[in-house]
Amino acid sequence: MAVRRSFKFLLRPTRRQEIALMACLDDHRQLYNGALEHRRTAYHKAGVSVRYGDQSGELKYIRAGDEGGQGRWSFSSQQATLRRLDRAFAAFFARVKAGRAPGFPRFRGRGRFDTVTWPKDGDGCRWDSQPERASATFVRLQGIGHVRVHRHRTVKGRVKTVSVKREGVRWFVIVSCEDVPAEPLPATGAVTGVDVGIASLVTTSQGEHVANPRHLAASADHLAAAQRAVARAMRGSRRRGKVVARVGALHAKARRQRLDGVHKAALALVRAYDVIVHEDLRITNMTRSAAGTLDAPGRNVAAKSSLNRSILDAGWGMFLTILSHKAESAGRKLIAVDPANTSRTCARCGHCAQANRVSQAVFACTACGHTAHADVNAAANILRAGLALREAAEAA
Ligand SMILES: [Zn+2]
Repeated sequence: MAVRRSFKFLLRPTRRQEIALMACLDDHRQLYNGALEHRRTAYHKAGVSVRYGDQSGELKYIRAGDEGGQGRWSFSSQQATLRRLDRAFAAFFARVKAGRAPGFPRFRGRGRFDTVTWPKDGDGCRWDSQPERASATFVRLQGIGHVRVHRHRTVKGRVKTVSVKREGVRWFVIVSCEDVPAEPLPATGAVTGVDVGIASLVTTSQGEHVANPRHLAASADHLAAAQRAVARAMRGSRRRGKVVARVGALHAKARRQRLDGVHKAALALVRAYDVIVHEDLRITNMTRSAAGTLDAPGRNVAAKSSLNRSILDAGWGMFLTILSHKAESAGRKLIAVDPANTSRTCARCGHCAQANRVSQAVFACTACGHTAHADVNAAANILRAGLALREAAEAA
């Protein structure tokens, strides 16, 4: 069996290449914003929806009219940028249709557009572009050159797409591969339900708690302080530039810590269990999208939600994504269940009432007297729902 997998490496661009990387990112950002403006205007003034095909068709004229600018970069990476905008619109209209408060696709300011993707290796980019140089790995990017890669592990499978991402002052390359050989783990005969939450990233129905990384809360506090400093600093001042850079660095640090914790938790679960049941988070809408309307695209939403919470929130989606990749590669089964009532139903007698949930941490059934850690009780319900689903599927 083969799976898809991504590998992420630090880039070591020369000074000249770094300047080109910044220009490449900024031109793609402006292309994105220009295409967004085009769609907004057409929609507002004429009620017309502009499609990806229309915008992609314009690309060759944009490139021909701007040889030293947009014309420098890969046609395909520019198409990928337009497709990204198209996906943002598709998601927006899907939310409108579902009757949810949609966030209208937003213009991306400097520092709010960090990724360029080349959708096909060999088309405007080439992974391992200098294989004859045994001592180092390079990726060739159109308009930028052969950029050195700190390749700290082997890339397996067939390289499909190549992306470059800026994180603070560092640059990374992400290669997404197909046909990566799966590495199945031996069966353990054990099954578990998992509850994801704030206090613990993961709680299992067996009563194991995996905490969020110890340093994450501290990073969140520092980040909040740095953001207050940005708010105080005068626009355009040198001090403001400094604190903005600090916010970026702290964000990147929190992201690394979260990713690290999430990887460890997911790995521990797939090692120990053959079947892992979790809540389907798409149903709960736990991750709040930045809401907005057509006329007032998402302002001040980020300011409202607590930063600490938002950092942990983002971890759940990331955790489930990574868990599903690891489970697939290891030959483990994941089952997603409807999260309704899992936190207020008694895992022993099935009595469902809000009053059962005494506090964030304590569950005490008002019918049978069963008491448990609230997250463990929820995880037990999640496991039961998952096993019922599996039984129903096997019976069908
Ligand atoms: Zn009970």
